[in-house]
Amino acid sequence: MTGQQHIVVIGAGYAGLSAATRAGRRHRVTLVAPETRFRHRVRQHEQAAGRPEHRPDIARVIRGRQVTHVPARVTELDLTARKVFLDNGEALSYDTLVYALGSRTDRQGVPGVAEHALTAERAAEIRRRIAEAPTPGTVAVVGGGATGIELAAELAEAHPAWQVRIVAAGQVGGWFSAKGRAHVLRVLGRLGVQVHEHSPVTAVTAHGLRTDTGTLDADLVAWAASMEPHPLAATAGLAVTPDGRARVDEYLRSVSHPEVYVIGDAAEVTVPGTGTLRMGCATAQPMGLYLGKRLAGRTSAPFAFRYGLQCLSLGRREALVQLIHRDDSMRPTAVRGTLARLTKAAIVNGVVLALR
Ligand SMILES: Cc1cc2nc3c(=O)[nH]c(=O)nc-3n(C[C@H](O)[C@H](O)[C@H](O)COP(=O)(O)OP(=O)(O)OC[C@H]3O[C@@H](n4cnc5c(N)ncnc54)[C@H](O)[C@@H]3O)c2cc1C
Repeated sequence: MTGQQHIVVIGAGYAGLSAATRAGRRHRVTLVAPETRFRHRVRQHEQAAGRPEHRPDIARVIRGRQVTHVPARVTELDLTARKVFLDNGEALSYDTLVYALGSRTDRQGVPGVAEHALTAERAAEIRRRIAEAPTPGTVAVVGGGATGIELAAELAEAHPAWQVRIVAAGQVGGWFSAKGRAHVLRVLGRLGVQVHEHSPVTAVTAHGLRTDTGTLDADLVAWAASMEPHPLAATAGLAVTPDGRARVDEYLRSVSHPEVYVIGDAAEVTVPGTGTLRMGCATAQPMGLYLGKRLAGRTSAPFAFRYGLQCLSLGRREALVQLIHRDDSMRPTAVRGTLARLTKAAIVNGVVLALR
């Protein structure tokens, strides 16, 4: 890319914000996202449990760079005219577009989720519902993946008078090594979390859950079952996979629109030797860092990535660090206790430092 360009970055998550601050060293960048404080999604389970928030102001993160933050929502993209339409009535023109709208919890697959369940994105509401309940009750967390486990552990530790249940279609933490999964189940047990495995949820009601194996009462249902990419990529006409993630080349450029880069959860990225990357902060931020450097003219190499570890918080006193091979498959080693807790905390704090 020669000369100064106008780059529009849509989405200020791990991917978008990391790309914008670096690209803004060389180009004029407009960053569009509705929030004024960084969302820091990997800490949303802590917010739901009423822990202090750690969310820097976006204005502070972009200070000193040629980046202007427009606090608005993108409503439409015209990829032919190179225009981004916003809910404040503005339309932005770009030379290069960085699409980083991330993902959200899928609420469509099971009846009753949209009406009766709260997702991690609504952490403040989970916190309020628990704080304002007249007496302690029962929370059912649906999802045996990382988000469900972190949320169940955090809620159980912060609210010991509440009964917390975790409900999974398969195993809870079933992808970890035997040692890793055993540690997860041991800590959940210590925190008093009831584990319901192999219980696919068929409906959420005003009183709890219906599953393949019966009903489970709950005063509050927290839904953390699966993620879906933001739908705008597909509706705007970018080439996407059947699940709606944008198809990109080895430089993270849309295969259908080379003036558009797609990064983070919104993109399906395959790296030789590593495979197709899963959605996660662990993959989204490296994409943003790479693209920012590329746009600033500091690299022309293809995007490279290898996995090293997976971290999980299990309340404020425990964690798991699972060592993994470069292709995301498990090694037998799993670190627990203080070392795991400190490693997880260092990574979560390091992510914020790396935004600029
Ligand atoms: C509780 C929880 C714990 C997690 N823990 C981990 C973990 O330990 N490790 C891990 O790797 N991953 C974890 N994840 C997943 C991780 O948070 C996501 O994969 C990551 O946030 C994806 O980053 P992103 O930059 O692609 O998108 P996001 O972080 O989703 O950011 C999307 C951005 O787009 C903006 N946006 C959305 N719609 C619009 C619009 N219409 N117009 C303008 N802007 C818009 C949003 O406001 C936001 O700024 C966790 C998720 C949750 C919910």
